[in-house]
Amino acid sequence: MDQLPILAVDIDGVISLFGFEDAPSGPGFRFELIDGTPHCISVAAGERLRRLQESFELVWATGWQDRANDHLPTIIGIGPLEVIEFDREGPPPSRFAAAHWKLAPLDSFAGGREMAWIDDSFDQSCFEWAIRREADGVATLLVPTEPARGLEEAHVDALETWASDLAAS
Ligand SMILES: [Mg+2]
Repeated sequence: MDQLPILAVDIDGVISLFGFEDAPSGPGFRFELIDGTPHCISVAAGERLRRLQESFELVWATGWQDRANDHLPTIIGIGPLEVIEFDREGPPPSRFAAAHWKLAPLDSFAGGREMAWIDDSFDQSCFEWAIRREADGVATLLVPTEPARGLEEAHVDALETWASDLAAS
């Protein structure tokens, strides 16, 4: 394989955590004020993403858009990365009419390349998209996270196994 697979990375619910009852504490977490809003950042998620950069080409797939590269490189040492642009104003292409708002831009960014995608808010359209790509022979992996926990060690294990199986095939 001459190109690493793409890893599309969401931020809210993956790196920036929310929805917890008790705020996480310990060395794996840090509270950061970003553009005036407090965020609970999983420092551990940053470390895990750095490891995944050995097996994947990371890109941002987040509503943060360019703000991702403004903040995340200094906070968790990831980036700057390419940003998948989401135009939430215009209508999506008809075959994505009822789909998740990230799906059409993500699909056109990926083209025929293998892609894994980490996100906390997949819907049915995402899973159907992944199944269609797989049926077309394009390896595709969706990695759902819990927004209060973010990217965890088990996700890294699954992603690394997937990438090494792909490299061996
Ligand atoms: Mg999210």
